[in-house]
Amino acid sequence: MPIDIPSLTIGRVREGLLARQFSSVELATAALQFAREENRKTNAYLTFSEDRALAAARRVDQILARGEDPGPLAGVPVAVKDVIVTRDVRTTCGSKMLANYIPPYDATAIERLEGAGAIILGKTNCDEFAMGSSNENSAFGPVRNPHALDRVPGGSSGGSAAAVAQGAAVVALGSDTGGSIRQPASFCGVVGVTPTYGRVSRYGLTAFASSLDHIGPLARNVRDSALLLQVIAGHDPLDSTSAEAPVPDYPSHFDGNVKGMKLGLPREYLKELTSESGDLIARGVDRLKKLGCEVHDISLPATDYAIACYYVIATAEASSNLARYDGVRYTIRSASSETLGDMYRNTRGEGFGPECKRRIMLGTYVLSSGYYDAYYLKAQKVRSLIARDFSNAFREVDAIIAPVSPFPAFKIGEKVNDPMSMYLSDIYTITGDLAGIPCMSVPCGKTAAGLPVGMQILARHFDEVGMFRLADAFERAGGAQ
Ligand code: GLN
Repeated sequence: MPIDIPSLTIGRVREGLLARQFSSVELATAALQFAREENRKTNAYLTFSEDRALAAARRVDQILARGEDPGPLAGVPVAVKDVIVTRDVRTTCGSKMLANYIPPYDATAIERLEGAGAIILGKTNCDEFAMGSSNENSAFGPVRNPHALDRVPGGSSGGSAAAVAQGAAVVALGSDTGGSIRQPASFCGVVGVTPTYGRVSRYGLTAFASSLDHIGPLARNVRDSALLLQVIAGHDPLDSTSAEAPVPDYPSHFDGNVKGMKLGLPREYLKELTSESGDLIARGVDRLKKLGCEVHDISLPATDYAIACYYVIATAEASSNLARYDGVRYTIRSASSETLGDMYRNTRGEGFGPECKRRIMLGTYVLSSGYYDAYYLKAQKVRSLIARDFSNAFREVDAIIAPVSPFPAFKIGEKVNDPMSMYLSDIYTITGDLAGIPCMSVPCGKTAAGLPVGMQILARHFDEVGMFRLADAFERAGGAQ
């Protein structure tokens, strides 16, 4: 019987392998074929790593043949956002600048995935250097939302979210700096998790804004997202900001019982949310009440400054991180230069797309002498206020419920000429990144037009267990619908 690729879960892959219903090589071959066909619709993948996938699958089959444990993700087809480096597999960051870059090493998350038996099918499309909310900033064409092909999948991890939604991977890695995992998860109807800052090593994640960057999972259910996080989380000596905290066995805490859990509803997040997305979130909150949660009205007063604060800090860090792409290392090199200065200028002029240039200029400006105190330092102070709002709230509640995005997936082209409106896509997600707390998007329901809407759960630092338990209970109850 052919394997039903889009219905696979991590548990189902394990069962099938252990019962010898299929081998890991058979599964990898079928998954690659399915992903290639689906890709014609969505452009979710930029590169397929067929050789590497089949070599990993052969290793899993050999381990199984010896009767040994092949690891918690054995045989599981995984997609990886193309900002995470993979040895010998092209890693473009969605940029013309790195169109031919073949990294000589693997990110820690990749090593851990393969160490657990996972099969990396390929690299997924994304906004250039993860800057964007719609995937339209990719140098390799936009990704289409599998739920409506004329709409965006969200961004910047749009390829990973679309691949998981259409069954072209069981789970995927994304990256989140201001919402890039949760927002596309919401738009594509999948689960997306931004772990606590430091929970997952950033070694091998191409830097956008280092103090905000996270690697995290996308999956079709909460359990799979938790299993994936469990494998990639944990201290790494190669990332000085990675945390020593032990990694719990997340799914062992899933019992569907969230009675008495105290949830906060931030009034600043809901006051202007009058759309269908708002109605769905309200129904999601009703569902949580029926599950026995206590819901409290809370205030996060610094929310109004979050977008401004984020776009100062993120662009400042980006302008510094992107300085390394100079035509000397990693990148393409402009052919038409007489002097070294010209070579830098021409390479950067030709290699970066308009959004990267906009951010480099803005970031350089806010860091420049005379403006540093007025903008960058001020933004850092506001960031502390935002983090303090959350610490205060978590004295009273165990988790916070919020929307992920003010609207569901919009049409391709609808917002490209209006950067301000695009930046507002992240109004509800960037605060979690600024505070460094764990947060996730869990499918809530669909609009009348059939577009998915995610609900956001935010929790205390390192309380992924509490966040996942709530999301799992909500999912078991059928979401808002
Ligand atoms: N959309 C936000 C931005 O453009 C967030 C991106 C991200 O999280 N990588 O910066």
